[in-house]
Amino acid sequence: MKNTKILATYGPSVADTNLVEKLVESGVNLFRINCSHGGSGDFQAAAKLIRTATARARFPVGLLFDISGPKLRLDRFAGEWPISEGTELVLTAGETDLKQSRVGVNHPDVVTSLQPGNQIFVDDGQFLFDVLSRDADGARVRSRTNGMLLGGKGINLPGVKLPIPTITDKDREDIATAAACGADFIALSFVRSPDDVWEARELVQAAGGTQRVIAKLEKREAIDQLEAIMAAADGVMVARGDLGVELPPEELPRLQRHITRMANRHHKPVIVATQMLESMRFSPRPTRAEVNDVASAVMDYVDAVMLSAETATGKFPLEAVRMMTRVIEATEAALPSRETVRVERTVTERIPQAIADAVGFIQDKGTAKAVVAFTSSGFTAELISNLFSSLPILALTSDPAVMRALALFRSVYPVQAAQPESFEQIEDVVGAVACKFAGLKTGDTVIVTGGAPFGRTVPTNFMMITTVKGK
Ligand code: PEP
Repeated sequence: MKNTKILATYGPSVADTNLVEKLVESGVNLFRINCSHGGSGDFQAAAKLIRTATARARFPVGLLFDISGPKLRLDRFAGEWPISEGTELVLTAGETDLKQSRVGVNHPDVVTSLQPGNQIFVDDGQFLFDVLSRDADGARVRSRTNGMLLGGKGINLPGVKLPIPTITDKDREDIATAAACGADFIALSFVRSPDDVWEARELVQAAGGTQRVIAKLEKREAIDQLEAIMAAADGVMVARGDLGVELPPEELPRLQRHITRMANRHHKPVIVATQMLESMRFSPRPTRAEVNDVASAVMDYVDAVMLSAETATGKFPLEAVRMMTRVIEATEAALPSRETVRVERTVTERIPQAIADAVGFIQDKGTAKAVVAFTSSGFTAELISNLFSSLPILALTSDPAVMRALALFRSVYPVQAAQPESFEQIEDVVGAVACKFAGLKTGDTVIVTGGAPFGRTVPTNFMMITTVKGK
C-alpha cells in the first residue's frame, strides 16, 4: 500500500471501463475530469464510466472535476502559423485574419488591458511576445521566439491585472454538473483570492452538492495571498503548468516546497501536478529527471501526484501509472518510518490533534503495523495522515462520500464499517479489517482511535493499542 496517492486525468486514451479498472489496480486513487475539454454531457458520461469501472475497487476511488476558469486563448484557426524572432502580429478582439497577421483572442479584456512593455506567453510559454503598442484595432506584439503556432493555444499575461471574474458562466454550469454527478472534489482554476473559493463553495451548495473545493495555485496573485487561500480551501494543487509561465520557472521548486509545508501546517491535502512524466505521452519510459521529480514530491510528503496528458491523451497511460507507482514505492521504502520534524499546526480541535500526536508517539516507541481510525467525518484520519507516517491508516466510516474524499489523503485507505458498540467489538473489527485490507497477521500490533461513549457521534477522544488475535 503506497502512501502517496495518484490522481490520473481521464481522457480519450483511457475511456474504457476495463482500462480504468486496470489503472486503479495499478495505483490510481482518484480520477480528474478536465472541464477545459467538452461540455456537460461529456462530463456526465465520463463520471458514469469512472464510477461504474471503480464500483468494485478494493478501496473507494475519488472523482475530481477540474473547473477550467477564465483560461485565455487564441482563436482557433486551421493549420500552423510560422513565427520567427521579430515577427509582428496584432492581437485583436475582432476576427482572426492570418493574411493580415491578425489573430483573435477569446476575451476582449486581454486586448484592452495590455500596455506597451507587457509580455505575452503563448502555448505554455513556448512563444514569447513583447507588446509594442495598442490602439482601437488591437495590440501590436513582436515575437522573441521561433516556432509553428497553432490556433486555440493558451495565453498567459504575467503581471497584467485583468478585470475578469475567476468563475465564468461555463464554470457555473460545470460546478452544477459536478454536483449532479456526485463528484468528490472540484478544483478551481486561476484562483486569485480566498473570495474565489468562497464563491465556489456557494455555487456547490446552491447546486445541492457537498464537493470539497481544491484551489489550483497558478497565479502570482494566489501566491501573494497563499495563507488566506489555504485557510479557505479544502486542499490545494500546485498547478505547475500555468504557474511555471505566470512566474519564472526557476521559482517553481522553491514554491512547491513552500506550498507543501504550508498545506501541512494547515492540515490541507496538497497535489503536485503537471509534466510529472510528460515524456511518457509518447515514450514507454520516462526521463531520469521526471523520475526524480516524482520522487522529490514523495520525499516532501505531498498527498498526491497527478498525471495529466500522460493518461488523458498519451500513448502509454497504463505504463505511466505503473511507473509512477514504482517510483512512489521505491522512494517511500527509503523514507524514515515517520517524519519527526515538528510542524506548527493551525488546527484548533485540540483533543483529536492530541490523539493524532499520540499515535505518532506510540508509533515511534513501538512496533505497530497499521493505524485503524474509527471516524464519522474523516477528520481524525486526515490529522493522522499529516504525521507523515509509513503506516497505512485504515479509516473506518459508514459514509461513502467521506470514504471517497479520504482517497486523496496520504496513507489513508477508507473502509466501510459501522461505528463500534464496545471495546471488545473494536478488537474483532480491527483484527478483521487489518488482516483483510492491510495484510496484517496474528500478533501484529495496531493503533486504534475513535470516540466514546459508543452509540452516538463523538469526536475522537481515545486511542488504544491492540494485537490481531488468532481465529
Ligand atoms: C496546470 O496548469 O498545471 C494545471 C493543472 O491546470 P490545467 O491542466 O487546467 O492547465
